[in-house]
Amino acid sequence: MSDAEIIGLSAAQAAREIAAGSLAPGDLFEAYRARAAEHASGAGLNCFTWVAPGAPAESPSGDGAEGVGGGALHGVPLAVKDLFCTEGVPSQSGSKILEGYLPPYTATAVERLTAAGASLLGKTNQDEFAMGSSNENSAYGPVLNPWNRARVPGGSSGGSAAAVAAGLAPWALGTDTGGSIRQPAALCGIVGLKPTYGAVSRYGMIAFASSLDQAGPLTRDVTDAALMLRHLVGRDERDATSLAFPEEIALPSAERLDGIRLGVPQELTAGSSGEDGEGEGIEPGVLDAFEAALSRAKELGAEIVRSVQLPHAPHALAAYYVLAPAEASSNLARFDGVRYGLRAEDPKDLLDLYTRTRHDGFGAEVKRRIMLGTYALSSGYFDAYYGRAQRVRTKIAEDFRAAFAEVDLIVTPTAPTVAFELGEKTGDPLQMYLNDYCTVPMSLAGIPAISIPCGLSEGLPVGLQIAGPAFSENRLLEAAHALERELGFDGSPARS
Ligand code: GLN
Repeated sequence: MSDAEIIGLSAAQAAREIAAGSLAPGDLFEAYRARAAEHASGAGLNCFTWVAPGAPAESPSGDGAEGVGGGALHGVPLAVKDLFCTEGVPSQSGSKILEGYLPPYTATAVERLTAAGASLLGKTNQDEFAMGSSNENSAYGPVLNPWNRARVPGGSSGGSAAAVAAGLAPWALGTDTGGSIRQPAALCGIVGLKPTYGAVSRYGMIAFASSLDQAGPLTRDVTDAALMLRHLVGRDERDATSLAFPEEIALPSAERLDGIRLGVPQELTAGSSGEDGEGEGIEPGVLDAFEAALSRAKELGAEIVRSVQLPHAPHALAAYYVLAPAEASSNLARFDGVRYGLRAEDPKDLLDLYTRTRHDGFGAEVKRRIMLGTYALSSGYFDAYYGRAQRVRTKIAEDFRAAFAEVDLIVTPTAPTVAFELGEKTGDPLQMYLNDYCTVPMSLAGIPAISIPCGLSEGLPVGLQIAGPAFSENRLLEAAHALERELGFDGSPARS
């Protein structure tokens, strides 16, 4: 097989070719490794902060997995977001404060995939501590969007999304706290799935906001998302919030949507009031692609229900930007110059060591979140901010529960705009936060949501988000699969 043919395979297809003996794992790995290396550490799209030096040694038996569970993913290279701890491999969470940090252990999510036979191809660039929507908050430089290098790939899993879209990795692992899998997937024209909170172990993920963080797949198609998720889910005794998934994740096969009620909440699908898509609301080109996808869903037999309501969803962003920074301010207290990574030189006392390490090690957005979070949690303000935001969170979860009594799934655009220009929103944090308008409600409710590409606007990909009740991943994947087939989105321009 030529390199071009190899790169043309999805992860599931590559696994099949390897199992059939028609593709050597070493050839597959090397084809991607060479491409990834061209986009590492400031070069090309700047997707990778670390790339494996060579193909992993093949076990002579050739049957892949050493452990239990077989080698269903045998030989398939895997790109992993920087914030997953990988033993002996740099894991810096996009931050200078963790520069050179080599963890002594590997995150459960990564371990599960490698136990199934996947091999670590590289670590992907990301916003620092997963805070961001454009991948411009990385201490290792911004990632560029393969559809247009003057544009952002979205964030915070921007390196993972751009790598998959550009064909530098067959698939990638990312994390989503308020949208960081779905939004970059949308902006790069690929598939991204945020699982039900607790479905995937967070053990070994460098924490941002622990009650929201979830690991999940960024893939070229829905089948690959199902395949990766199948190997990710499950209870892990090292993460007390992890849960046993109630059923096996199936590889989707649906071609129709007969009888499926798709709810279109007005609150998350309203057009922007401003002249050129500025401010709140969805820009016109995104809405057009979204509406066109809904028409196709109807042709497949779905019922479109526009009366469904999520009355508290417009408050989700405000609640999220209290809760997530509050949790972050606590999680990031551990970076003190004593335990890991960067340490200020010649401190005059302990306080000076803490202060200068954190001053030098954290970027501006991380400092902003720590200050916001610390303020929100301070004794006089705790109830006014954190307490109230928690109550809003409960209301949002109740809204979804009520909505799912009327519809099977909820659909919205994933992001209000297509990929924007580098630098366009860096001066205005509120404008940046609005990227998460449609994705944050599901995060607060802990429910699963997938983004699939549904068309182009201004020559750039538009994402369609499908959300369902907790543990409805199989249903989500089936619906996404049927729509994906019908929409026939062509992602190849980003790979060439
Ligand atoms: N963009 C959001 C934030 O900056 C979400 C990030 C994420 O999901 N990790 O917090």
